[in-house]
Amino acid sequence: HCEDLNTLVSLSKRRGFVFQSSEIYGGLGSCWDYGPLGSLMKLNVKRAWWNAMTRRPDIVGLDAAILMHPTVWKASGHVDGFSDPLVDCKDCKTRFRADNTDSYLQHKKCPNCGSKNLSEERNFNLMFKTHMGPLEDSASVVYLRPETAQGHFVNFLNCQQSSRYKIPFGIAAIGKSFRNEITPGNFIFRTREFEQMEMQYFVKPGTDEGFFNQWKETRWNFYIKYGIKKENLRFHDHEKLAHYARAATDFEYKFPMGFSELEGIHNRSDFDLTQHMKFSGKSLEYFDEANKEKYIPYVIETAVGCDRLFLAFLCDAYREEITTDEAGKEDVRIVLGLHPEIAPYKVAILPLSKKEELTSIADKLRNQVAEDFDVTYDETASIGKRYRRQDEIGTPFCVTVDFETINDQAVTVRHRDTMVQERIPMSQLNAYVAGKMKS
Ligand code: ATP
Repeated sequence: HCEDLNTLVSLSKRRGFVFQSSEIYGGLGSCWDYGPLGSLMKLNVKRAWWNAMTRRPDIVGLDAAILMHPTVWKASGHVDGFSDPLVDCKDCKTRFRADNTDSYLQHKKCPNCGSKNLSEERNFNLMFKTHMGPLEDSASVVYLRPETAQGHFVNFLNCQQSSRYKIPFGIAAIGKSFRNEITPGNFIFRTREFEQMEMQYFVKPGTDEGFFNQWKETRWNFYIKYGIKKENLRFHDHEKLAHYARAATDFEYKFPMGFSELEGIHNRSDFDLTQHMKFSGKSLEYFDEANKEKYIPYVIETAVGCDRLFLAFLCDAYREEITTDEAGKEDVRIVLGLHPEIAPYKVAILPLSKKEELTSIADKLRNQVAEDFDVTYDETASIGKRYRRQDEIGTPFCVTVDFETINDQAVTVRHRDTMVQERIPMSQLNAYVAGKMKS
């Protein structure tokens, strides 16, 4: 587990996980780009979530547009209510959120300079506004969505009727959301552009409590399956509920800055569908054929930020091991003990020498592995150094092509966590890795 966010920021930059956006122009506040390794890993995070959600008999996928009819955000309550209280310091000009800044909450002081010369609190709407079409007037205002959920609500009947699923069933989506956060920060933890993975599960009123608890358990098991350590994850039940919510729980993860929200699970009642019925004038009622009854379903929502989960995986996987070489010299081995499905590369192909007789085999083997897995190749520096490079980016299997390989058509597979080595025939390498990924 990593205790210092800066360690992850610098590892991310050095090894190509995450770069500051527009870096050569000095960066843009709280915007980040996922690099060669980060983009691979982020896809893996999304795939893990997507498969867990949609490879079930009761959940379908959706990929809705970022721009939606502006009335959607009236109906959802975002236009009137999606705001944070903001305060300005008149001395140092710092702007901060009033509801989560300790020095302000406790002593009415500026978090930056300690001054008490502060403005009144005022509400600041977090939605990004833009205009659709050539005219920049109030009639052309559209918003960048601040959550993906509304796409699920307005498509509830489209999804239900086209898939012919019966309630209970869910809609899952992954997509970008935008919030003009007053105080973004902590690397990719809180940004203004981020990716959400949300699932809305539509249930019969009265069964909602049971499903709420089921989803808490299902999501907990997901995190444990993908290697998050139990001691770094906890539930935080909300006592104060949003106006639409009947129950709400956060999954909190122990980030370097302390336990903070990773995922929210909410019982949203029939609030959203009812609102959209009211504002659109269209019925979003569900007809239960078996019982010949109509009702507006309740919604259990699970919502996690992909970027936050990415950060949680990095934190949880990071470790420094003290090792001693044969000469008794101490060294630190940095390892990202990522779950193999989450790791950017599954396999690294490392020819023991740069001689053509080895690199030609290694090259072919690389192509063979690439048919099934993300694979990397490295022929520079000592083999020990190359192992370390792979450990630091979480590659679970290092495969060495040596002079024996020419005779026995076999390679040495070295395991990241145990450093145990095994000899495997090249022809069986893909099947071997596939087997290990499952176990
Ligand atoms: P917070 O209290 O941290 O602002 P929230 O309760 O407003 O989050 P939700 O609206 O429930 O968050 O969004 C669901 C998930 O989306 C959050 O648990 C988080 O993982 C992610 N998320 C929300 N806002 C951001 C952001 N600004 N940057 C990155 N991820 C975010």
